[in-house]
Amino acid sequence: MNVQQIVLASRPIGLPSKENFRTESRVLDHLNENEVLLKSWFISVDPYMRGRMSDVKSYAASFELNQPIKGNIVARVVESHSRSFEVGDSVAGLLPWATYSIENAANLRKVDTRSFPPGYHIGILGMPGLTAYFGITDIGRPMPGETVVISGAAGAVGLAAGQIARISGAHVIGIAGTDEKCRILTEEFGFDNAINYNSSGNLRKTIAGICPIGIDVYFDNVGGEITDAVVANLNNHSRFVLCGQISQYNSTRIATGPAILPIFLSRSVKLQGFIVRNYTDRFGEGLKQLTKWVKDGKLKYKETIIQGFDNLPDAFLGLFSGKNIGKMLVEAE
Ligand code: NDP
Repeated sequence: MNVQQIVLASRPIGLPSKENFRTESRVLDHLNENEVLLKSWFISVDPYMRGRMSDVKSYAASFELNQPIKGNIVARVVESHSRSFEVGDSVAGLLPWATYSIENAANLRKVDTRSFPPGYHIGILGMPGLTAYFGITDIGRPMPGETVVISGAAGAVGLAAGQIARISGAHVIGIAGTDEKCRILTEEFGFDNAINYNSSGNLRKTIAGICPIGIDVYFDNVGGEITDAVVANLNNHSRFVLCGQISQYNSTRIATGPAILPIFLSRSVKLQGFIVRNYTDRFGEGLKQLTKWVKDGKLKYKETIIQGFDNLPDAFLGLFSGKNIGKMLVEAE
């Protein structure tokens, strides 16, 4: 069977471009025992994949040159040599960017695409949702009435983190890159306030005006100057949840982060970085709670769906210019 796949053609220096990817055809082998043939359906693009495109050692192994990019995918089983899956089942797993792929059944989980849109299983009920859940409930731990600020608030993780902080009874402010995103945060997702960092002028002063009694929890998805402005407004004994640093992922020079460290010292701020897979043992608990909140209407969600397998590189690149609201996905079919 002839299939299309997208491989890493070269390693980016700075901002990635379409030239770093190449689409090619390949012929799939026959299925072995316990394997299934999958047709890719919804494909997730995620900021952490930028790190995997480099050859710098990190928590996730680098993608190999001339090999398919891998990411979270919801796929449909079209042929099965496994007792665990039948033709027509929907599954999620870490799969190659390919129109079809062969995978061992042990690496897949069955997902319910009747009760939830398929993309939810790689979004709010997948890695981004779990990241928000553990970052807020285990690290940030906002108390009722405390002020929580979320950067990258209109993205997959940020939307969930803000709403979970609201469920905890906190006062929640989101920071995002457009007026439209800010409107959605307050009108559709229950954030108490939102700041457009591109039009706010002096961000540090804007935050001080909106958070007159300071910030108790900062959930950071972006880093850089936005984070410097938030940190200036942190309260004594506040918590800094270090989730992501997207503003730095394409940087070719070392950032000047230590400049803000004296604030951490003088205000006894507790900073904790984390990787969601630290919580693998508790994913069951997290998924149960997230599913309940979604079913109860307490946790809403949004997806930006780009049509067409060939548009995967564009969708991925769009993350770095804020093209998405909520989870960025590609519908392959
Ligand atoms: P998003 O859906 O938030 O997409 C990325 C968003 O980041 C864009 O829409 C854009 O929104 C914003 N952005 C892009 N470039 C910049 C910049 N230079 N400065 C400020 N904002 C920028 O992605 P995710 O929700 O999937 O991920 C959010 C963060 O969480 C990422 O940093 C990611 O690496 C991290 N993460 C960490 C995990 C962990 O285990 N620690 C797991 C999953 C994600 P805007 O228009 O507002 O600028």
